[in-house]
Amino acid sequence: MALTRGPGVSGRPERLFPLFAGIETLPGIGPKTAKLLANLQIAHPKDLLFTLPTGGIDRTLVGSIRDVALPGIATVTVTVGRHMPPTTRGRPYRIEVEDAETRFQVVYFRGAAELHERSLPQGKRRVLSGKVELYDGLAQMPHPDHVLVEGDNLPAYEPVYPLTSGLTSKVMARAVAGALERMPALHEWIDPALMAERGWPAFDEAVRAAHHPQDARDVSATTPTRQRLAYDELFAHQLTLALARASDRKRRGRTTEGDGRFRRKVLDALPFRPTGAQQRSLGEIEADMAAPRRMNRLLQGDVGSGKTLVAMMALLTAVEAGGQGVLMAPTEILARQHAEGLRELADQAGVVLELLTGRDKGRERQAKLDAIESGAIQVLVGTHAVFQRDVTFADLRLAVIDEQHRFGVRQRMLLGEKNAEADVLVMTATPIPRSLALTQYGDMDLSALDEKPPGRTPVTTSTVPVGRMDDVVARLRSAVAEGRQAYWVCPLVEESEIVDTASAEERFRSLRTALGEGVVGLVHGRMPPAEKDAAMARFVSGETGVLVATTVIEVGVNVPNASIMVIERAETFGLAQLHQLRGRVGRGAAASTCLLLYRAPLGETAEARLRILRETEDGFRISEEDLALRGAGDVIGTAQSGLPRFRVADLDRQAGLMELASRDARALLASDPKLETQRGQAARMLLWLTEQDRALRLLSVG
Ligand code: ADP
Ligand code: MG
Repeated sequence: MALTRGPGVSGRPERLFPLFAGIETLPGIGPKTAKLLANLQIAHPKDLLFTLPTGGIDRTLVGSIRDVALPGIATVTVTVGRHMPPTTRGRPYRIEVEDAETRFQVVYFRGAAELHERSLPQGKRRVLSGKVELYDGLAQMPHPDHVLVEGDNLPAYEPVYPLTSGLTSKVMARAVAGALERMPALHEWIDPALMAERGWPAFDEAVRAAHHPQDARDVSATTPTRQRLAYDELFAHQLTLALARASDRKRRGRTTEGDGRFRRKVLDALPFRPTGAQQRSLGEIEADMAAPRRMNRLLQGDVGSGKTLVAMMALLTAVEAGGQGVLMAPTEILARQHAEGLRELADQAGVVLELLTGRDKGRERQAKLDAIESGAIQVLVGTHAVFQRDVTFADLRLAVIDEQHRFGVRQRMLLGEKNAEADVLVMTATPIPRSLALTQYGDMDLSALDEKPPGRTPVTTSTVPVGRMDDVVARLRSAVAEGRQAYWVCPLVEESEIVDTASAEERFRSLRTALGEGVVGLVHGRMPPAEKDAAMARFVSGETGVLVATTVIEVGVNVPNASIMVIERAETFGLAQLHQLRGRVGRGAAASTCLLLYRAPLGETAEARLRILRETEDGFRISEEDLALRGAGDVIGTAQSGLPRFRVADLDRQAGLMELASRDARALLASDPKLETQRGQAARMLLWLTEQDRALRLLSVG
């Protein structure tokens, strides 16, 4: 029996060996089929257990093909009549058959005559199941799916499996049956109270039932059987994350407690009080920093939710304790913007803050490096340049990492070994639905700024068909005359930057004609950086009133006086993107407007997206709606996110289970950190079964 082992993990329980044998050890599987199955990521019998039917075919026996709507699948008992071999080449082989009420023909385009004579001998009774269709007014069943002797077993509901070219459902069904026979008896790993509450079957029962659906309900994501198996997968995933978190927490960290002298200065100078959400998040962060372990926390908050203040207070805590703090942003522009925002606060505290990016060169850079090494620079802000090899901190205690809109691209590892004890705070401006946050950041602790600072005027959002473009331009003209500023976003529709740039340029020209020379500016992705910077600068200074842009403005532009956002072809944008774009306005004192220009007719999803935007500005709610509309993979972008792929679990429809699994996994580890109790041992079995190698490694090192 061929056995495979994950890299670095040994000790797979013997009981699972048959399920981890090579797939070709199953009956009916040769090397060729094994290759086809490999295309479906099926390498071992256990993979088949978790490859569930995607649907099913009703094969209930009926009296006659007249009982089904044609074309359709019929299962009938027939008496076989005359065989009519083709008289000319290229014609099909036909066999007349008769059910309880009518005659029809079985048609074969392939296969030898002897084969047909053997399977459908004239005068005999047979059960046929297959698609019946009308051809020239005659009912026929081309290539029946099943030809059985009366009394043979045919499931009334036949499961349909994901297949690949060359792999038939018969071979698949046989392989699955073989895998099911190898299923060992396993102890239960799910909390018994949860099982009872949900009415979930035991694992082996659930696997068998999932592969033998009785009707369409049994293949839906909501059936207890599937919920249980999905839960198993999510629970295994969350156990891995919880183990990683637990091992992280065991690792040495620093106790960082400030005396509050810098923070107090900043708070005293603020013209406002921190929101409840800011206070709560800060409390969580300060408690983590004070604990003698390494902080690993994610701070989520929409644009404008006040992350800067929270980050600064955390950085000041590090400085108060005699250490340093660093903030890393994903781009040069953002690093500069952060430095600007933070410097104001740092000045109030009397703390030295410096910016370090890839643009620093030569002597100037060396001077900064020296100041970082001596501790003269207390807070460092920059791009990934801050973690380059030659950057040595005197005493780095906190790293704040701004992932901005690129969640998934985790830059924590950049911290490297030399700063292994520094606390880590990751910030993201893209609220993630709770289930996805748990999927992706389940090894971290989560803080959310889910409350906007007061005193903001909400953005009024309305949808306008493109036919009323002239009205929009007229309104824009009077707004600009009053000294207001507007963004005009042109879409990326053509998948071609050249075409899209051309349409942005055209919009720029038409608006310039309508509003006047010098009033309108333009930025797009194909512009030389210097020109782009100049156009931006003119808009920031108020020289231009309207900025026509492709989506390049999405990230990190802050112009408080801009109070109008026009988004052309809004129906082509995603919900999260529209929300981010809209977030560019509503930052100043003036009442703000967002106009979503669309081309009718709107599809159902597009209409839903625009409606949600009109209804709410709450990024967390928008993210949940986005998940419901688009599905998890699209929301995060599976490929680049490292979002795990689940075989059974469907994050779009079973998102609620993730939260449950996360809580359950953490609770189990709290009471049984080494998974030694009977339930713990059973959970280990689940980790083996689902190949959670990372978890198994963490357990093996203790
Ligand atoms: P984010 O970084 O989350 O996008 P910022 O930290 O830039 O948001 O905050 C946006 C604006 O709100 C800033 O002008 C900031 O001074 C202001 N602000 C932050 N916290 C509060 C608060 N508690 N009350 C009022 N205004 C606040
Ligand atoms: Mg700490």
